[in-house]
Amino acid sequence: MTSSSERHPWGLPPWRIDFAVPEQALPGAVDFAVVGGGFTGLATAAWLKRLAPEKSVAVLEAGRLGAGASGRTGGIPLAESAAGDLAGLGDVLAGFTAALDEFRVVCDLSLGGAWEIGRGGEALADSPIDWNDSGRLRVVREVPGGTLDPGKLVSGLARAAHGLGAMIFENAAVAGVEWGERPALRVVRARDGRGEKIAAGRILLATNALSLPLAGLETSTHPKLALAALTAPVNEELLRAIGLSQRKPFYTIDFPYLWGRVCPDNSILCGAGLLDPPASQDVAEIRLDAEEASRMMVQFEQRVGGLHSALGKIQFTRYWGGPLLFRDNWLPVFAWHPRSRHGVVLGAFAGHGVALSVHLGRWAAEALLGPRELPDWGRISAA
Ligand SMILES: Cc1cc2nc3c(=O)[nH]c(=O)nc-3n(C[C@H](O)[C@H](O)[C@H](O)COP(=O)(O)OP(=O)(O)OC[C@H]3O[C@@H](n4cnc5c(N)ncnc54)[C@H](O)[C@@H]3O)c2cc1C
Repeated sequence: MTSSSERHPWGLPPWRIDFAVPEQALPGAVDFAVVGGGFTGLATAAWLKRLAPEKSVAVLEAGRLGAGASGRTGGIPLAESAAGDLAGLGDVLAGFTAALDEFRVVCDLSLGGAWEIGRGGEALADSPIDWNDSGRLRVVREVPGGTLDPGKLVSGLARAAHGLGAMIFENAAVAGVEWGERPALRVVRARDGRGEKIAAGRILLATNALSLPLAGLETSTHPKLALAALTAPVNEELLRAIGLSQRKPFYTIDFPYLWGRVCPDNSILCGAGLLDPPASQDVAEIRLDAEEASRMMVQFEQRVGGLHSALGKIQFTRYWGGPLLFRDNWLPVFAWHPRSRHGVVLGAFAGHGVALSVHLGRWAAEALLGPRELPDWGRISAA
């Protein structure tokens, strides 16, 4: 099997988002507009309402909640950032779990550790993983981290933000922002295609790898579509044979890249490669039924089949893609919008945003409310 349902050009992930967004009219003005209904936008909206209940907050999501990376992720929360620890970042996993407790989000979180695996000579003597993948691939060290259900995390954050009074709008794409003393967002709702304006005191752009010009990120970042794959459920014997019976997620520290985890039903979820967008840099134009993606899936299945003798007959049941945003230096973007101090841009977590996005949501809310400053490492140059 090489492809999941074709109803979405990026395929369908296995996660379920069960928060039903109530229908309502767009307000004419709000104190804070949050563009993007992924982990970053939803966590920030919840913190804004938690810290300043009297302020009005609207979350504007172009598709359904979790339509970007958050509903399509692997769901492996990790410490720090893709660039390591950063000034003022604090303990990412502690901040993440504190936010989940604060907002009573239940998402099957297990923080039993994650394995860094590599081909170098410094592997653990008793490495449970011993695979053949461009060299001998073994566990190098265990790091803080674990697994969760991303659908439940999106739903839980949305429920919390809504419960605290944030207005949430799905199928409401922000087509542009008129920056000025009182910025105005042009919002197009999918149901009738009509454009409406919302005035906002301040705006958070949490749009990740989509809408790069809107966020002022078109020259400073690189968008990709990350391909993920899911096997049919496997038995304990197979998990033991390949070294995954402890159910610790894993990722390589060298190339070629490989990451994965065991899901609650004993299926194995892994990253299957990165697809480049066309010259437009718009990842929305990538389709999983296109030739390049199909070729990547075939090569990936061959690669997995060769990792270990027990994986020779492994069956893949589903593929899907999700947007990732990178900077050359792997640092997240956490900056004032290049065109206005009325806007904050937060994202570009690479493959490291599950815990970090939620952790930084609090800092983003504090910066939007003032007077907390943004970190130097998050700056972007003017587009
Ligand atoms: C396949 C895959 C696996 C991953 N695995 C892991 C992992 O295991 N661990 C980890 O830490 N990280 C992982 N990541 C990264 C992590 O999922 C992301 O960093 C995180 O979800 C980013 O959240 P976000 O809210 O910033 O962005 P997103 O979830 O992408 O949200 C952005 C939202 O903005 C919306 N939007 C865009 N433009 C507009 C507009 N103009 N108007 C309105 N809305 C708009 C989009 O529809 C989208 O819903 C993975 C990512 C992918 C794709």
